[in-house]
Amino acid sequence: MDLKTVTLYKIAMPLKTPFTTHLGTVKDREGIIVEVMDTEGRKGYGEGVAFSSPWYTEETVETSYHVLKDFLIPILHNADIKHPSEAGRVFDALRRNQMAKAALETALWDLAAKKEDISLSKFIGGKREQILSGVVVGAKTNEEVRKQIENFLERGYQRVKIKIGPENDYELISEIRHFYPDLPIMADANSAYSLDDIDRLKRLDDFGLMMIEQPLEYDDIVDHAKLQKELDTPICLDESIVTFHDARRAADLGSCKVINIKIGRVGGLGTAKKIHDYCLDKGIHVWCGGMLEFGISRAHNIALASLEGFAIPGDISESSRYWEEDITLPEVTVKNGMINVPDKPGIGFEINEKRLGEVTILKENFIL
Ligand code: MG
Repeated sequence: MDLKTVTLYKIAMPLKTPFTTHLGTVKDREGIIVEVMDTEGRKGYGEGVAFSSPWYTEETVETSYHVLKDFLIPILHNADIKHPSEAGRVFDALRRNQMAKAALETALWDLAAKKEDISLSKFIGGKREQILSGVVVGAKTNEEVRKQIENFLERGYQRVKIKIGPENDYELISEIRHFYPDLPIMADANSAYSLDDIDRLKRLDDFGLMMIEQPLEYDDIVDHAKLQKELDTPICLDESIVTFHDARRAADLGSCKVINIKIGRVGGLGTAKKIHDYCLDKGIHVWCGGMLEFGISRAHNIALASLEGFAIPGDISESSRYWEEDITLPEVTVKNGMINVPDKPGIGFEINEKRLGEVTILKENFIL
């Protein structure tokens, strides 16, 4: 790919509203921006979506930065990658660290699409010109949740995802159902339950949820298969699906009817697309999950969600959901619950250099 340099930016930006799950609250979002440049001066961008602490997966911003700087960039230096689809296999020399791998791999996809002068969506075979938008609510009290939902519905979102746990599940969902009898709702448990809670989870079948996401342990696919046999509500797996083979095994076991595909969690766009293709073939529904991300990851998500299998609204919301001012231009906006897929080359968004400068706390340049 005639790569010349890689630049890493460590950034930090306050969220407009703190985001709460049963595992904690995020107030300031740190992240990593990866910029790759080829010998003709073309630039591609990726984003590291690990959080500051390892509550979602084992990775953090610090570990991702370390793995990028000390392992992945040297691997890239020694490899002769002709197409971004080869990067996943090359990076598999390292175990896991999926978000660090995805940060660099997605930058290569952006660069390659720009070189072909087509949008990333077209480059990966996307068919949709607009994608379905959804929003995640993460608030402390039921009243705050309801207020946020009201506000999001006014802004045109068509699907709402709420965070639940044993301390608030039935009351919270019945309250929302009381006010919004027909609203498509997903409930995300982020592993708040065990198989002992099976009766508790069965009660949630009353509400006609679109799905319940990751009710059991973050690395489980066996107990989820047992649970799915007992529940009418479709189970969606998030944390448990870290590789293509995880998706294949979950499909074989009947652990879920839906998979939330996150580019960062599965190590890159190549694997994300492979999981999409497999699920489409096996009749497993997919949607694109969010990571409280900045604009570059959001742009990659939009390209991914333009693939034909993404028929369920994902966690892809407008820039203003999280940020006063994002690092990309133009802002992503939602109209009638839809987001336009850009047709400009690559990710289709410009870098807001001024804003990126303001939020950068560390910048390092590496020559390949
Ligand atoms: Mg989730």
